[in-house]
Amino acid sequence: MPVADAAPAAHALLDRLRPHLVAASALERLRLVAETFPGQAVFSTSFGLEDQIISHLIFVHDLPIEVFTLDTGRNFQETYATWNKTLIRYQQPIAVYVPQREALENLLLHKGPNSFYESVDNRKECCHIRKVEPLNRALAGRGAWVTGIRAEQSQNRQTMDPLEWDAAHNLVKIHPLFDWTWEQALAFVQQEGIPVNPLHQQGFVSIGCAPCTRAIRPGEDFRAGRWWWEDLSAKECGLHTTAAPHDGPDPVVEPV
Ligand code: SF4
Repeated sequence: MPVADAAPAAHALLDRLRPHLVAASALERLRLVAETFPGQAVFSTSFGLEDQIISHLIFVHDLPIEVFTLDTGRNFQETYATWNKTLIRYQQPIAVYVPQREALENLLLHKGPNSFYESVDNRKECCHIRKVEPLNRALAGRGAWVTGIRAEQSQNRQTMDPLEWDAAHNLVKIHPLFDWTWEQALAFVQQEGIPVNPLHQQGFVSIGCAPCTRAIRPGEDFRAGRWWWEDLSAKECGLHTTAAPHDGPDPVVEPV
């Protein structure tokens, strides 16, 4: 269905779902997504604390929501170890999307391995090749995208809807942990014995690629550890835009 035709129907669906989602638990929210979008719901994990909670709920309760990850090739070794522990613990498949070989080879040939430190444009180019394009492939033809976003993660996210129409990917986007606090998430992983990325214990809150993520200090914003050399307004990679597609570079809103 063309985006222009899909949006009004999608907004009606969001209005119908929202009251049920707001009052529900995270597990009930996931069940509702799976029932509403049979065979069409996916969850993207980067193996951070919130994502591990959602994977746990999907795997333990055998929910028909496909789990996938984006392997940028620049993740921390601790993230790969957490990925491996998750496979061992749950014995469930996690689909993987990697960058297009030719685009990545061209980037490395012409700009080298660390061009993202040189300019915002270079950084966005790297994010596009390693994250945004693979994500677009992962979401193509899907009906619902589950994410680990929480409202308290950044000021931008305080105003986000827990349920939204994602015009960029032509699907409904749902954040089942939207109203959880960091402390709540920590308590849940301890209670359930969920595998956790050890970097969280070293002050890393939001964990992305190794060259672009650092630990934050007490009191710093959750996003302060990502692309810390850039101005705040530029610190996005395009994964969580909900704007409609347009000509030219991809719209850029929220990072993962
Ligand atoms: Fe490249 Fe850094 Fe973006 Fe990862 S976070 S895709 S290394 S610029």
